[in-house]
Amino acid sequence: MAELRFSALKELFGRVPVKVTTPANDVSKYYGVDVFNLHKMEHYLSKEAFKVIKRAMDEGKSLTRQEADQVAIGLKVWAIERGATHYTHWFHPLTDGTAEKHDGFIEYGDNGHIVENFSGAVLVQSEPDASSFPSGGIRNTFEARGYTAWDVSSPVFIVGTTLCIPTIFVSYTGEALDYKAPLLKALSELDRAATDICQYFDKDVRKVIATLGCEQEYFLIDEALYYARPDLILAERTLMGHQSAKDQQLSDHYFGSIPERVMCFIEDFECEAHKLGIPVKTRHNEVAPNQFECAPMFEEVNLAIDHNQLLMDIMRRVAKKHKFRVLFHEKPFAGINGSGKHNNWSMATNTGVNLLSPGKNPKTNLQFLTFLVNVIKAVHDSNELIRASVMNESNSWRLGGHEAPPAIISVFLGTYLINTLNEIARKVTDKKMTPAQKTELKLGIGKIPEILLDNTDRNRTSPFAFTGNRFEFRAVGSSANCSAAMIALNAAVASQLVKFKNEVDSIIRKGRTKDEAIFQVLKKTIIESENVLFEGDNYTKEWHKEAQRRGLSNIKSIPESISRYLTAASRDVLIGSGVFTEKELESRVEVEYEKFTKKVQIESRILADLAINHIVPTGIKYMSSLLENIKALKEVFDASEYEKLAATSKEAILIISDHITMIKNLVFEMVEERKKANVIENEYKKALAYENKVKPYLEEIRQHIDKLELIVDDEIWPLPKYREMLFTR
Ligand code: ADP
Ligand code: MG
Repeated sequence: MAELRFSALKELFGRVPVKVTTPANDVSKYYGVDVFNLHKMEHYLSKEAFKVIKRAMDEGKSLTRQEADQVAIGLKVWAIERGATHYTHWFHPLTDGTAEKHDGFIEYGDNGHIVENFSGAVLVQSEPDASSFPSGGIRNTFEARGYTAWDVSSPVFIVGTTLCIPTIFVSYTGEALDYKAPLLKALSELDRAATDICQYFDKDVRKVIATLGCEQEYFLIDEALYYARPDLILAERTLMGHQSAKDQQLSDHYFGSIPERVMCFIEDFECEAHKLGIPVKTRHNEVAPNQFECAPMFEEVNLAIDHNQLLMDIMRRVAKKHKFRVLFHEKPFAGINGSGKHNNWSMATNTGVNLLSPGKNPKTNLQFLTFLVNVIKAVHDSNELIRASVMNESNSWRLGGHEAPPAIISVFLGTYLINTLNEIARKVTDKKMTPAQKTELKLGIGKIPEILLDNTDRNRTSPFAFTGNRFEFRAVGSSANCSAAMIALNAAVASQLVKFKNEVDSIIRKGRTKDEAIFQVLKKTIIESENVLFEGDNYTKEWHKEAQRRGLSNIKSIPESISRYLTAASRDVLIGSGVFTEKELESRVEVEYEKFTKKVQIESRILADLAINHIVPTGIKYMSSLLENIKALKEVFDASEYEKLAATSKEAILIISDHITMIKNLVFEMVEERKKANVIENEYKKALAYENKVKPYLEEIRQHIDKLELIVDDEIWPLPKYREMLFTR
């Protein structure tokens, strides 16, 4: 198959940068043209319908059938004007992708003619036969039909000729089968809890939203080379390939000028994104060769996640037009940096205040410190839950390396805030404060600089870092649906805020002033969560030792991490707040175990196929040519010269033959381990078997293949090499 590799390379050398769309440079003119946003609603809906939908959006309520019918009339007119012929309920099953089933507007009219129809009933609810989505045993096939219901907080949009309606996906018995349903619950819990806390500081606050800006990292690879790599096609990750002599050592790709062909792709997908109301803003080269990043301006979490999922979809589609493939996998290439999706997260009030941004005076700064300290406490108490939410098979190849946060979840604050918290913890006593103490404290708090950015954004090794006016949760994987991480984080913070408020209120009831009560509980909370604060380099061995001393959890096993969704503390947060029912949580964990097992299983199968069908025959072929060479030498030269001349070939044959034998034996052993694991019924134990018994072979077999790559004649090597995939564009 070496021909495939060489023809791919030839094809690639003929590539020229092409622009597919030419957007006008005034983005404001076409921004959101494919979104049924408030502006269009006002234009296309009756006054009544507009009022109804606006209220539903503001209050997070659903519509009645009659109300939906009214909305559907205007929506249909707009959609058909924009060229839509079909509609779909667009949802987030537990697969990390999105799902859609299209139905035409086409319908028989009363007199048998064909008409376009779109009613309120199909707008608000649909029943896709979605029995094949992972459900972790919530549904058996007898009650397979789940249903989808419109999430009015995320606007309807058009992709191609299809009107897409963002929906939640639940079973007939009401259990969530998707990410969105629990996410909306977690966000509403956070709203309630944070709004309550804000009442201490500002009576005008009626609503708190969580905000999210996801930095999306990705790799690009030329389509021709992609097609010559079965592992990339099936697993989005190279399962073999020797490191390129040069890759990222010189840091010459990072922030370098964006290659022209890539730039054409970026401009095109950004244009598509802007039409769909996705506010992408930032673009740059990342650390690894052919690795890039794009980041939008932050939005409300639910919307930001819909937009991120849609953006990944757009990028995949547009990449094809440029004869690229975009790889969202966390670690497509060994030995160089992988990709993450840093989740920049904060909370904002309806009065326009970012709750994690220090304010101008002691009052707003006390509010800032209250939220800051409670987030830290939430990460401290829900440490294992937060880790569980980002651990999965593909992210496991990235986490823990010297490029991504380790399995220990700690919080970075920066020296300024660490000192401030220390002061509070030290100064305030449980007794009534003297007026002097109060003033001193208030003055101290009042001094927090409004702009902390320069003081904080320094530590790139921390999994959860404060970056001046938000936290950056860095452990989230690049291919992930951020919902899992956001459900865990927002539910954990909500639950902590409720506890905090209960404590403060009980002290106020005992006769203390509000400020005194808040200071007192803050002090206690800081002391209780100090363990999770770490300012140093998270990649060092010393930190691992120190974390162990502090009793911080450090779990490298993926199934074991996932199992922490079910601890008493996690249950308290997730079930206690009503985000999940017991059954939903258990089934979700089951789905995660299964996903892990299946992904390792798939990679193991691909590797075995490639090893036996591509690599071993290539090694044998090369050995044969060496043998021919030895025979020819014998015919031509006399014995004394022959021995010397044949030595190199003979030695190579022995080495190659050793590797081939090892590969064959290891593949055989791996398949045997798979067979043993496959009969285990308990999903947790099966996942553990796949992790401990099957997964190690992936690395071991690869090592022998990568050694062979270095010895075998380049002319016959069947798969595109790292240097070819990473340095051609
Ligand atoms: P860096 O790479 O320096 O960390 P980027 O500019 O790539 O920063 O990304 C920062 C992200 O953080 C952007 O998506 C930005 O909109 C987002 N962000 C800024 N402020 C907030 C906030 N208050 N809440 C959530 N996200 C925020
Ligand atoms: Mg960035």
